[in-house]
Formats: sequence, structure tokens, C-alpha cells
Amino acid sequence: MFPIKVENLSYAYGTRRALVDVTFSISQGEVFGFLGPNGSGKTTLFKILSTLIPVDQAAVNIFGYALRNETQRVREYLGVVFQRPSLDLKLTVTENLRHHGHLYGLSGRTLDRRLQEALDQFELVDRSQERVETLSGGLQRRVELAKATLHKPKLLLLDEPSTGLDPGARRSFRTYLASLQETTVILTTHILDDAEACDRVGILSEGKLVAIGTPGELKRRVGGDVVIVDSPEPEQLSPKISQKFACTPILVEGLLHIESRNGHEFVRDLVAAFPQAIRSVRFGKPTLEDVFIKLTGRHFN
Ligand code: ADP
Repeated sequence: MFPIKVENLSYAYGTRRALVDVTFSISQGEVFGFLGPNGSGKTTLFKILSTLIPVDQAAVNIFGYALRNETQRVREYLGVVFQRPSLDLKLTVTENLRHHGHLYGLSGRTLDRRLQEALDQFELVDRSQERVETLSGGLQRRVELAKATLHKPKLLLLDEPSTGLDPGARRSFRTYLASLQETTVILTTHILDDAEACDRVGILSEGKLVAIGTPGELKRRVGGDVVIVDSPEPEQLSPKISQKFACTPILVEGLLHIESRNGHEFVRDLVAAFPQAIRSVRFGKPTLEDVFIKLTGRHFN
């Protein structure tokens, strides 16, 4: 039913806990994003799933194989893009892809066809004979993606995939994600737009999975609008707002964040009630960042 199942996964570097009791399941064909700020445990989770860090205690099951003792089997199903480049800079784009294809047992016509598809998909046809070292960072990232998907992995693991891509390349990457049918994708990101493009998102904070759901479901956890108040004395103003409007402002980096069913009316009443104590107010529909703030009481980055 769930090709990827992780139950009660914990991991520590010495005494520093990086993952705490993480449990989730992912369906075939899903694009699943782990969203979290720096230090929330994304890379550690990614390294475990990509078999770089061995696991001993937890049940991590990928396509029916237990990661703990069937690592080699699991690897055959994976396509992985790490944050650090894994390309051979002295070789051309095509040469890099060919070598990767050979590693996965592709050859002849099948390899030629996959190569052409990958070059088309990531708009690399014009650059195929260029050495990777001559390409910009964004183009190199596209070659990484082409390489990771060349052998049509069942599970594509992407660590911060749109880091280093320009806005246009980010958009086409998201379109590419949306076009995948069979492939299951797990990505990590601290970029809200990347998370928005996923079927489901898991929010990580200090090694804990604090929420899981579609972007829409997660945002519905924040009621209505989010009002953000800039005040010279936020600590004093917070209890007053709380008392008058029966709400619970959250103080994040000097700004008060308040959920409101009806933002524009609330803003009007708020400014009328505390005209001297408010420098500025803005409001809008909740983002995944607001969900993070609501769940953890902390700022996202
Ligand atoms: P993220 O990818 O979300 O930034 P990480 O998985 O890299 O999070 O880090 C999670 C926690 O583990 C952090 O507190 C980080 O400082 C710590 N950590 C990560 N790698 C190591 C390491 N090699 N040795 C010790 N602590 C580490």
C-alpha cells in the first residue's frame, strides 16, 4: 500500500539529536516535500533515505525492503541528487550521463533514447557536447537532475533541488515534478514555493515531524487571514490585543502574528483600539511559513 514507510526513526550525532521519533508513509507517485529551517533534520533524513547513513534501530521500509539489512536492493530503486555536485567537471554533459547510464546497466539504443529524453526534458540539448566545468551553476544543476532521472528510478530523492536555479529554471523544474506519473519523489527544501508544489508536505522542526498534509490542508490549520503587527512595544501590546479580541498573538522576531477569520475588519478594529501602539499592520492569506510559526512559535529562517 505504502511503498515508503518510516516508523519511529530517531538519529543523533553523539549527544546532538537530529531526528526524533519520525513516522510517515508515502504513496507511489507522490511528490512529498520535507520543509524545515536550517538544522531541522532534513539533510539527516535525506542521508538515511539515500542509504548514506546506515540505520540500525528504526523501521525504514522502501518498496518492501528493510533499509537496515537490504541496502543494496533499495539502492537499485533510487535516483539521488545531493546538494553537492556529483558531476565529473572535465567530461561533457553527454559523457556524464552516459557513464551514469552504464553504471545502472543501460546500453545501446535504450541508453541513447533515455539520454535524448533527459537532454530534452532538462533543456540541455544545445549544451550536450560542452564540458560541465564551462556551464553555469544553474545548468550544472539541471545536468544533475538529468543524471539522477536517466535510469528512471522508482524513487527520486532530491536534497534542496532548486538551490542554485534561477527563477525560470525553478518554474520548469516544478512543472517537471508535476509531470512525473509513476515516480515517487521525496525532496527536502527550505523554499516555501517548492513545498507548495508538492502533493504533500511534512514540516520538520528541531528533528520532529510537527505536521503532515497537503499544502491546502496545512494552511487551513491557520484560521482565515494572518495579521502581522509592527509595534514599538510588542510585549506590552500582546496581552492587550489578546484581552480585547480574544485571540493569541505570537511574537516572532519583534512582530506580532495574529490569526483572524476576517482580516480587513480585524485590522480596522485593531488600529482603532490601539492607534498609538501600532507602527504598521499587514495581512494576507496564510502561507506554509505561517503554519510553521503557528505550530512551533518560531520564525521559519
Ligand atoms: P538541515 O538539513 O535541516 O539543516 P541537518 O540534518 O543538517 O538539518 O541537522 C540536524 C541537526 O543535526 C542540527 O542540529 C545539526 O547541527 C546537527 N548535525 C548535522 N550534521 C552533523 C554532524 N555531522 N555532526 C554533528 N551534528 C550534526
